[in-house]
Amino acid sequence: MSQQAQYDSQAINQMDKDHHLHPWQIFDVFREEGALAIARGEGCYIYDTDGKRYFDSVGGLWCNNIGLGRKEMAEAIAAQAYEMSYASPFVDLTNVPAAKLAAKLAELAPGPLNHVFFTCGGSTAVDTAFRMIHYYQNCRGKHEKKHIISRMNSYHGSTYAAMSIGGKPGDHPPEFEYISDTIHHLSYPNYYRCAADGQSETEFVDALVKEFEDKIAELGADKVAAFFAEPIMGAGGVIVAPEGYLKRMYEVCKQNDILFVADEVVTAFGRLGHWFASESEFGIVPDMITSAKGLTSGYQPLGALLFSDEIWDVLNEEDSGRCFAHGFTYSGHPVACAAALKNIEILEKEKLLENVMEVGPYFEQQLKTLEDLPIVGQVRGRKFMVCVEYVANKETKALFPEEQDIGKRVSNHADELGLITRAIVHLNVMSPPLTMSKADVDFVVSTLRK
Ligand code: PLP
Repeated sequence: MSQQAQYDSQAINQMDKDHHLHPWQIFDVFREEGALAIARGEGCYIYDTDGKRYFDSVGGLWCNNIGLGRKEMAEAIAAQAYEMSYASPFVDLTNVPAAKLAAKLAELAPGPLNHVFFTCGGSTAVDTAFRMIHYYQNCRGKHEKKHIISRMNSYHGSTYAAMSIGGKPGDHPPEFEYISDTIHHLSYPNYYRCAADGQSETEFVDALVKEFEDKIAELGADKVAAFFAEPIMGAGGVIVAPEGYLKRMYEVCKQNDILFVADEVVTAFGRLGHWFASESEFGIVPDMITSAKGLTSGYQPLGALLFSDEIWDVLNEEDSGRCFAHGFTYSGHPVACAAALKNIEILEKEKLLENVMEVGPYFEQQLKTLEDLPIVGQVRGRKFMVCVEYVANKETKALFPEEQDIGKRVSNHADELGLITRAIVHLNVMSPPLTMSKADVDFVVSTLRK
């Protein structure tokens, strides 16, 4: 397979090294190693500029839900670009795909989430939620209700507000500045790492809920505006909270007039076998849902904030003179919205959510067999959102020293064997395309075992 022989890999790498600053670039490493240049994709596979094939178990970056290289996606995007590539979304104009997509999302989203604000991706959806929360509370006359609560190790994006809401210590180095006076981080629900000796899952959840209640009491319920949570924490290490946690946190929000924002940038559009995981997987109907990634399967950049009738009614109050002064040049971009509509059509037509329901449990079960290996501490996750945690000592759960970069070493070795996984310190994370078959699962698990 050497259709790619036309590429001069060395020259591409040099251009990239000299001029392209990557997200999360570790300068000393990048200077030496550069990045693997990918030239082509098809289904679950990507090909580098030398033509080598890899199974991409990461689905790009949790986003490639329908698989790469789809002709019908390219055609839908081209047709929309030809028909009408751009019109301003500001108030007096709209476009056909944006209107249709907003209606489609309202149909797919849980009950009262019937309103959509389009953004450029996940971070801008979180920023939009942040600004809408302030606006909403001010419109209700609750001018003091501005504090935001989220969790340690959460990831909500990379804009100023989104990064401040996120709680990954590694993302908060002192060289950056963050909003710290009105944003607070609770403990995160990692039972494997954070439970006290002998503490049951129920006791663990009780303690987390109590911490939340105590924080609200300390700040005053009249000062807490919203709680942000990923239904399953992604970049923070694929943390599935023990049974009941999310529901109880949600109930605390309801009791205290606190908005529950489910960050479903990763979990929506089928990754857990549902359009949205909050209601179908965890039994809660949030006030807001942020989404992106699987919305277009990465064929176009697009995010969407979905919000409830209750919030809409406040914003939309007659004769209030209100204007939600917020938006982006590319809000509701017609080509991106056309890509999302086609993507949703493919997810429906090919029953890919059903595939996740069928193959997901097999993936979890097969991956779990790796727990018999001496360096595997825990395999966790749900359906098409999983991770392997490596430990130096299974008994004590002691981690390998950071300089040994265990996750990266395993993923580099897997690269050589034709499998892409994502290394996050002592983890390998996977979120494959929803088209993955049981035979693909066997390849992924046997390769990781090697
Ligand atoms: N929220 C969550 C849960 C994410 O995982 C991400 C990205 O990984 C974001 C928000 C930010 O999305 P984006 O990178 O599209 O801005």
